[in-house]
Amino acid sequence: MLDPKIKKMNRERLLSNLKANPDKIWDVIIIGGGATGLGSTVDAASRGFETLLVEQSDFAKATSSRSTKLVHGGVRYLAQGDLSLVFEALHERGLLMQNAPHLVSNQQFIIPIYEWWEGPFYNIGMKVYDLMAGKLGLGPSQKISKEETLSAIPNLDHNGLLGGVIYFDGQFDDSRLAINLAQTAFENGAIVVNYVKTVGLLKDTDGIINGVKLFDVENNETFFAKGKTVINAAGIFVNDIETMDEGKSDKSVLLSQGVHIVLDKSFLQGDSAIMIPHTSDGRVLFAVPWHNKVIIGTTDTEAKNPSLEPRASDEEIDFLLKTSAKYLCKDPNPEDVLSVFAGIRPLAYSNGKIISTKDISRKHQISISLSGLITITGGKWTIYRKMAEDVIDKAILVGGLDEQECVTKHLPIHGYLRNTNFEEPLYYYGIDKVQIEETLLSTNPKLKEKLHPSFPYLKAEVIWAVRKEMARTTEDFLARRVRALFLDAKASIEMAPIVAKLMAEEFKKDSGWIKNQVEEYTQLANGYLIKK
Ligand SMILES: Cc1cc2nc3c(=O)[nH]c(=O)nc-3n(C[C@H](O)[C@H](O)[C@H](O)COP(=O)(O)OP(=O)(O)OC[C@H]3O[C@@H](n4cnc5c(N)ncnc54)[C@H](O)[C@@H]3O)c2cc1C
Repeated sequence: MLDPKIKKMNRERLLSNLKANPDKIWDVIIIGGGATGLGSTVDAASRGFETLLVEQSDFAKATSSRSTKLVHGGVRYLAQGDLSLVFEALHERGLLMQNAPHLVSNQQFIIPIYEWWEGPFYNIGMKVYDLMAGKLGLGPSQKISKEETLSAIPNLDHNGLLGGVIYFDGQFDDSRLAINLAQTAFENGAIVVNYVKTVGLLKDTDGIINGVKLFDVENNETFFAKGKTVINAAGIFVNDIETMDEGKSDKSVLLSQGVHIVLDKSFLQGDSAIMIPHTSDGRVLFAVPWHNKVIIGTTDTEAKNPSLEPRASDEEIDFLLKTSAKYLCKDPNPEDVLSVFAGIRPLAYSNGKIISTKDISRKHQISISLSGLITITGGKWTIYRKMAEDVIDKAILVGGLDEQECVTKHLPIHGYLRNTNFEEPLYYYGIDKVQIEETLLSTNPKLKEKLHPSFPYLKAEVIWAVRKEMARTTEDFLARRVRALFLDAKASIEMAPIVAKLMAEEFKKDSGWIKNQVEEYTQLANGYLIKK
C-alpha cells in the first residue's frame, strides 16, 4: 500500500516515494492517465491491489479532455444495430450518474423534424433507447409539435420545421471527471503521477514483462518500477508501447479525428441540446449547451499520426459551420468561434480491412502479448468503468493476482455530492466546494477575485488546483482544471499571466518561469483560434 505518511496527492512526495523504493513490486502498473488508465487505476486500487499509474503529460491531456462531453448510449450505434454497445453504454450512463452526480447532468435533446417520415421514425427509435435504459432511464422520449419545439429552442431554423422528438442523455465535464478519478484512485491507495513517461519495458530472463523504465519529464530523470502486470492504456499511443514490447506493432488502433467548435450561448437559446441524426457525411451532429457556451461537433476523419495537440483542418471547421447554419436562425461565421478543439479517437481495430472510421465499432478490445503486456483500446468515456473492470479481470489472470471482486459499480467518485445545483458557482468541485470556501475564500478575501471579467473562475481555484489537483502548468489549470481554453481561447490567453503568477507563488518559482509559462500557453492557445 501507499506509504501511510503520504496524506496529500502531491506530485513531489508521490514521486520521491516511488523513486526511493525501486524494489517494490506493484501488482498493477498502468501506462496512460486518460479515461481508460485512470478508470483502471480506480478499479485495481479499490480491489486492494498495489497500483501505480504514470501519465507522460497531464491527466486527460490527450483524447479524454476533447470529447463531446456526452455520457450516452449512442443513438448512432442504435441506428447501426450495435445493440450490445448501446445497452452497455446506457447501463454505464446510469451508474456514472449515480456515482458522480456532481459532474453528470441530465440533458434534454431535441431531434428537429423537417420531413414527414422522420417524426414516427425517430420517435420509435428513441422509445427503443428508453426501453434499453430500463430502470436507469433519464426520462421518457416523446414527439412534440412545431410550437413546442420552437418554445424549447427559440432560435432553431423554423423554415419547413414540422416538430421534434425529445429524448434524454447525460452530459459531463470530461477532464474534471479525470481529475476526480485520479483523486479517487489515490484515496484508495494508488500512486498516480503526471509528467512521467514510460520509455521502456523491463523483462525477466524468460522474456516476461516485469516492470517499466520511466522518465520524470520535469526533472529529466530516468528510474524504474517493477510490477506483476503492466497495462498499456496509452490511447492513441498504444502502438508505441507495443513497439517497446515486440519491436513492432500490429496496429491495434486506428486513429480518427473529431473536431468541435464552441460558440456563444446566444446561438442556441434555451436549455435543450440539438441532435442532428444524419449530416451530409452520414454522421450525427450535436449542438450542446456547456458551461454557458455551445459546443458543436463532431467530425470523423482518419488521422495519420497520434498527437497530443491535434489541429482542426479548414475543411472540418467549414463543415461544422455550414451544417450548424442549416439548423440555427443565426448562421455562425468563423469570427464567432470562441475555440476550436480536435481530439483523436483510439478506435480498436484488428481485422486489417480499411473501412470508414465512422463505421468502426466503438467497442473496446483487450489483447495480451506473449510477454504479458495487456493492451486496451477503443471504447468511450461513457463505458470507462466497464472497460476498467474487464482489463483488471484480465490482469488478475495474467499476473496471478488474488481473485478480488470489482467494487466500482457503486463506488462514489471523489467530489460526490447528491442533488448538485448546476447553477451554483464552483458546483463542479462537488463536496470540495465547501473546503474551497472554508480554507481559501473565507481566510483570504483576495482569492475571491475573478481571473477574468467574462468568466466566473476565482483566484482560489488556481491555488486549489496546485495544492489538491496536481496542476503543474498554466495550461493544466486553464485547459483541464477549469475549461477556459476550450470555452474561449482568447479570454484564456488574457487569464494566463495572473494564473502563472499565482502558480509561481505556490511553487516558489521566479519571474523567468512566469514568462515561459505565459509564452508557452499563449502559443498553445493560439492554435485554438481560427486564423483570420
Ligand atoms: C472528438 C471526440 C468526441 C468524443 N465524444 C465522446 C462523448 O461525447 N462521450 C463518450 O463517452 N466518449 C467520447 N469520445 C471517446 C472518448 O473521449 C475516448 O474513448 C476516451 O477519452 C479515450 O480515453 P483513453 O484513456 O483510452 O485515451 P487518452 O485520453 O488519449 O489517454 C491515453 C493517455 O496515455 C498517455 N500516454 C501515452 N503514451 C504514454 C507513455 N509512453 N507514458 C505515459 N503515458 C502515456 C497519453 O498522454 C494520454 O493522456 C470522443 C472522442 C473524440 C475523439
